[in-house]
Amino acid sequence: MTHRATKIVATLGPASSDPALLEQMIRAGVNVVRLNFSHGTAQDHIERAHQVREAAKRAGREVGIMADLQGPKIRVGKFTEGKVFLQSGQPFVLDAARTEMGDINGVGLDYKALPREVKEGDVLLLNDGLIVMTVIDVKGSAIHTTVKMGGELSNNKGINKQGGGLSAPALTAKDMEDIRTAMSFHADYVAVSFPKSATDMEMARQLCNVAAEDGHKPGMIAKIERAEAIPHLEAILLASDGIMVARGDLAVEVGNAAVPALQKRMITLARENDRVVITATQMMESMITNPVPTRAEVSDVANAVLDGTDAVMLSAETASGKYPLETVKEMAKICYAVEGGTTFKMEADFTGRTFRQIAHAVSMGALFTAHHLGAKAIVALTRSGFTALWMSRHLIRVPIYALTSSVAVQRKMTLYRNVHPLLIDVSVDRDAALARAEIDLKRRNIVAVGDVYAITCGESVGAPGGTNTLKICQVQ
Ligand code: PGA
Ligand code: MN
Repeated sequence: MTHRATKIVATLGPASSDPALLEQMIRAGVNVVRLNFSHGTAQDHIERAHQVREAAKRAGREVGIMADLQGPKIRVGKFTEGKVFLQSGQPFVLDAARTEMGDINGVGLDYKALPREVKEGDVLLLNDGLIVMTVIDVKGSAIHTTVKMGGELSNNKGINKQGGGLSAPALTAKDMEDIRTAMSFHADYVAVSFPKSATDMEMARQLCNVAAEDGHKPGMIAKIERAEAIPHLEAILLASDGIMVARGDLAVEVGNAAVPALQKRMITLARENDRVVITATQMMESMITNPVPTRAEVSDVANAVLDGTDAVMLSAETASGKYPLETVKEMAKICYAVEGGTTFKMEADFTGRTFRQIAHAVSMGALFTAHHLGAKAIVALTRSGFTALWMSRHLIRVPIYALTSSVAVQRKMTLYRNVHPLLIDVSVDRDAALARAEIDLKRRNIVAVGDVYAITCGESVGAPGGTNTLKICQVQ
């Protein structure tokens, strides 16, 4: 499946730590892996990143690495028995000052500020909303609640407040430490959990830049999962390189039913602003335990593809599920089938839009021409990846091959929809680079004699200076 446009992000964990399996998962379609910093030690992540690079090499395919910071997940403490089973209607106390382990009557809190941030009548959702409590009273450090919807509550489960409003800062001391770890292995993307504002993203970016002593610049992904982030969506987006529709926590805060419309809005907004977007959480949830997805899951993935997402993400399915490889295969199959069964039309207002930068205008010219000629491919010789990003913000059938001499840029482009990033040495003058590109594309069976393709490049390909050339070629 060389022409699948939608990318797959797979979270790694115990179920996907075998090197041979990891390689198979990459061959089956994983474009970006997510290292979840909510679990494991710094050393675990460093080793995993190394494993990924090795497996990608064996698979002959470049893979992006996204370091996902834990953020201020607000959690209960631990229980004597590891868990309790709460009955609906029973009282339960969340106490920030409690030092002994929890029991059926109450439990301690990791987040000490919580008692100051809730009041009588507030609704607390625990364990991703599976358990619901109403606040009856707050006495000092103790939040007295009534359990509205009971169930099993185990160690360190997360707490959300319905409607949002908890003040925990987006970057914790642990996150700052984890940023250093992520920069040590050149994570291509850093995902920030629970950002509330553009400032949170700017701060995270600065911390990355300071931590990366060698000038490595990761792409910053804002996980949209807090009610407070929604009014500031555009500012957060503009301060980031991309966003994640983090449907898990978002659904708990804003309510399940509000999420699909928000997903569509976020995807559209991201594309319009030349940012990337990942749709995440529970996409193939039943495949954690079953070898096939449900019809509803197939439709969910399909709809995200139709919404225009750059990538669809797997969480527990590949991190701790029984069928990590099968899940990737199924997901790739769905993306491929949906893309093939849809006629993507150039947006109606495309010709009415203005692109004032030379490189941007040339990119759009390539897109427009290739679309109308039904070209075999668009080829972008790119230093920064920008031309490929701009081209990929419009849904067209023609695949975009982004040729770069920078591995870091190649890895960053693994997330861009419809962009196939390839490494090529093009630090030569323009004509030599164009010739070399065609030889490479033929060798890879991307184009054959008679095929028409559009190619963009700059004046002298390796030197600074933007794309200013569009050439339509027919392979001789
Ligand atoms: P998480 O983020 O898996 O780190 O919680 C994604 C989400 O909330 O959907
Ligand atoms: Mn989350």
